[in-house]
Amino acid sequence: MYENAKAMLEKAKKGHYAVPQININNLEWTKAALQTAQELNAPIILGVSEGAGKYMTGFKTVADMVKAMIDGLGITVPVALHLDHGTYEGCLACIDAGFNSIMFDGSHYPIAENIEKTRELVRICAEKGLSLEAEVGSIGGEEDGVIGAGEVADPKECKQIADLGVTMLAAGIGNIHGKYPENWAGLDFDALDAIQQLTGDKPLVLHGGTGIPDDMIAHAIRLGVSKINVNTECQLTFAAATRGYIEAGKDLQGKGFDPRKLLGPGVEAIKATVKEKMTLFGTVGKA
Ligand SMILES: [Zn+2]
Repeated sequence: MYENAKAMLEKAKKGHYAVPQININNLEWTKAALQTAQELNAPIILGVSEGAGKYMTGFKTVADMVKAMIDGLGITVPVALHLDHGTYEGCLACIDAGFNSIMFDGSHYPIAENIEKTRELVRICAEKGLSLEAEVGSIGGEEDGVIGAGEVADPKECKQIADLGVTMLAAGIGNIHGKYPENWAGLDFDALDAIQQLTGDKPLVLHGGTGIPDDMIAHAIRLGVSKINVNTECQLTFAAATRGYIEAGKDLQGKGFDPRKLLGPGVEAIKATVKEKMTLFGTVGKA
């Protein structure tokens, strides 16, 4: 069922579990994520970065593929199609293309400009029935300069953005995109608690879900995180499974070169990763 992320995230926040955002890159990725969600009777958010959208030949191709696949596979669990880290222009393009959820990442703007642009998108999304994720920048405004610690948002700025009427809020709590460095300081639960206290029942989003220890994930969910983004981990498991297939010489046996066979182990690896995340996040059976 193609629906925006509002109801599924409000339910998750109340029920103390989190819905995974699984970023997709192609047909196989999308199919693996949808089939796993259906099998586990779990809601799912499919994330698409602007780069992945371009790779798949445009946001409309993606939206049409996802909607047709929901129909073709008979998917009845809630599925949101969400732009990940969108620019203002990217958000407008996805709204036009038929996405039902967007993230506007205004975290690199001064807070006043972030508020102004987010407010405009709140208005448009309310009119068109989309869910909207906003992001608050770091206290120091650092990008990727700090090693061993991720960005931490100012709780007061989080409240300002949450109060605009966004559906969900991404705020840095020491999390990092991609692989975590050896000396990572861990999630900042004091910051998360402070943000949660000020933003109340607003679903909070944790980016950079790959490589955060399970106990930290559980703690973050207890403190109000209702959506966790998973991207790198599916890429790593897909690559490892594909490497295994080729290194074992299976592409050279019989029709092993057929892409439907060649990509099979990678697809199974994505399914296993999505299943592992849904189990860890408590999403299983929550559709
Ligand atoms: Zn992110």
